[in-house]
Amino acid sequence: MDLDQLCRAVSSPAALKNLPGYVEKVNPALIGLRRVIWPYSFRSEIHCALTNCGARHKSGVMIELEDGTVSNIGHICGADADKYSTKFSEEMLKMSASRLREAMLPLLLDRVALQKIEQQARAAYHAGEQWLRRRLAFSALFPDAAKEVERRYSSGSSMRVVDIVERGAAEISELIASGQFRNRAEARYKEIDKGAIRGASVMSLSEPRISSLWRRADALLAADPLALEIAALQRLFTEANQLPHDALQVMKACEAAQGFFAPENCKLMAMLPMPQTAKDALMELTLGRLDGYATRRPQKNTVDERLARPISKKQRDLQKRLEATLREAKRFAK
Ligand SMILES: [Zn+2]
Repeated sequence: MDLDQLCRAVSSPAALKNLPGYVEKVNPALIGLRRVIWPYSFRSEIHCALTNCGARHKSGVMIELEDGTVSNIGHICGADADKYSTKFSEEMLKMSASRLREAMLPLLLDRVALQKIEQQARAAYHAGEQWLRRRLAFSALFPDAAKEVERRYSSGSSMRVVDIVERGAAEISELIASGQFRNRAEARYKEIDKGAIRGASVMSLSEPRISSLWRRADALLAADPLALEIAALQRLFTEANQLPHDALQVMKACEAAQGFFAPENCKLMAMLPMPQTAKDALMELTLGRLDGYATRRPQKNTVDERLARPISKKQRDLQKRLEATLREAKRFAK
């Protein structure tokens, strides 16, 4: 992909900073502006790269500098006299609303592309829903193990499991003689590394995260791009790029879940502190057992029930109107 395409696909501060040639600090007194590439609008804030600004903002523009590096600055401060002044205003004009519209509409009016995004979101929803149910069953059956893995996952701690064993008398004497320990009490126990728990990112699966995929796919398909103001169009365009990304992340967590519930991983987790009965059950855990537990205890208002609800008349009408608009737009474009 060329730089322009990459910039258009940017939907988060992290993705922006991953652009090839991205620089975090730009001193406008030392390097000139070549062009404004593309605007962005994030849910979280990012710093303006200008060394004499640095303000935090959610909306700004990606720029290319005269040495070919790429950065990001606020869409207002760039025109200040001590920044890029009139050059910035000129470049902003080149990236005017009509041009943006031209650049964004092909994707947003491409029914096939949107349906592909929808399929990705729905597939991630279905997979995510299934693994979330298993994860919740796991948390109910093995609360000690689940809490420990969750704690480590959310704090970014090591996933290693160590077994603590008592050293033999001879080994202890040797360690003291070699100066590694001062006394017998200090040398008494050693830790043996048993391996690292795999697939802990299954803990990132949550009901809101998964059901939002479904709602967002609905919203993306129901929107009428031709009727939108430029800011709303930009948000829709960002969403069309962000949704496949988020769906992919959920799919990755589902893949991780397969490793998490694998027999060898369960055996490893059974070494964490928990009652012996739980250890025994965890050593024998199967997906079938988790699925059986999940279906025995249905939750109220699950995503499934909402899913089973038929599409409303309002939604159907909206759908029809949208399809008509699209047909017209295509005819117009010919
Ligand atoms: Zn700024």
